[in-house]
Amino acid sequence: MFNALIVEKDEETGKTQAGVKQIGEDDLPHGEVTVAVEYSTVNYKDGLCVGPGGGLVRHYPHVPGIDFAGTVEESSDDRYTPGDKVVLTGWRVGEAHWGGYAQKARVRADWLVPLPEGLTTRQAMAVGTAGLTAMLAVQALEDHGLAPGHGPVLVTGAAGGVGSVATAVLAQLGHEVAAVTGRPEQADYLEGLGATEIVARDELTEVTKKPLESEKWSGCVDAVAGAILGRVLKQMKYGTSVAAVGLAGGPAIEGALITPFILRGVNLLGIDSVMQPYDNRVRAWSRIARDLPMEKLEAMVQPATLSDLPTLGSDILKGQVRGRVVVDVNA
Ligand code: NDP
Repeated sequence: MFNALIVEKDEETGKTQAGVKQIGEDDLPHGEVTVAVEYSTVNYKDGLCVGPGGGLVRHYPHVPGIDFAGTVEESSDDRYTPGDKVVLTGWRVGEAHWGGYAQKARVRADWLVPLPEGLTTRQAMAVGTAGLTAMLAVQALEDHGLAPGHGPVLVTGAAGGVGSVATAVLAQLGHEVAAVTGRPEQADYLEGLGATEIVARDELTEVTKKPLESEKWSGCVDAVAGAILGRVLKQMKYGTSVAAVGLAGGPAIEGALITPFILRGVNLLGIDSVMQPYDNRVRAWSRIARDLPMEKLEAMVQPATLSDLPTLGSDILKGQVRGRVVVDVNA
């Protein structure tokens, strides 16, 4: 028997409740590889899955946790043997399939990647899905011409998980980074990650009717969408790109006009880490191991245990978590 965070739903009231319980290997879903999980994390989607579900959880009872790192215990797939260190992000694990909030997980071999060289399982989860997505966003901007020396790159939701990793990676790559935050008290933290400028969230939330504003940003990693993305699009320099990863500030692009796309050739690149093919994941993980300074990664980490998850899940939905939560499932 082993510990797992189980979310159950009362069919009559529709209310869900999460708590740490003991389950057995026979309870695990089908899959080719059984992993002794060491670490998982708290991403925005985990907040939704630990709480009322937001439509993401397919069946109850459910074990959330959209990512994990650990050691292979059993494998019927030739690519993995017991003792191998592995990482999982995405594939709707933790949503449609039981995830990483347990001391064991059973998944399809295709969903795993070997632990990237140079990272521990704990560091891999300090990065987690949010950090992998930040790296995919930076790579997409580079593929569309982003290079240092052309002015600041904007990062929105900067004190959150995606934003923290994007800030640190871009700074390490030699970019000036303008970090947008609604939490002025996180300015020192963001400067520690390499931000060269702090932009107050309020400066970008006002919806204007102006079709364009002064050109400011040479690229943008946007984790919030909403009114902020509408403003940012109008401030992008000619021919630059915004990599949009999330909607912590709301699903609509408010006030956005077609003008930035026509008159400034701005690109809006959608980034989704969920179904990324194996080669892209391996490439992004090796870039993370190379381009993300480990001391900065450590500065982002808040440690947690399985029993902390109901509270942390609710905190991340309120935008109150800083950086990355690393869940030691064996603590
Ligand atoms: P976090 O909660 O860690 O960070 C989000 C940040 O956004 C907050 O810390 C806060 O930053 C800011 N924020 C929160 N609420 C608002 C608001 N109402 N208006 C403006 N800014 C706000 O989440 P993650 O970084 O893990 O994820 C961010 C988004 O990216 C989510 O929507 C998530 O679902 C998505 N995502 C997408 C992935 C993909 O594959 N596409 C993968 C991972 C995440 P601050 O306090 O600094 O302002």
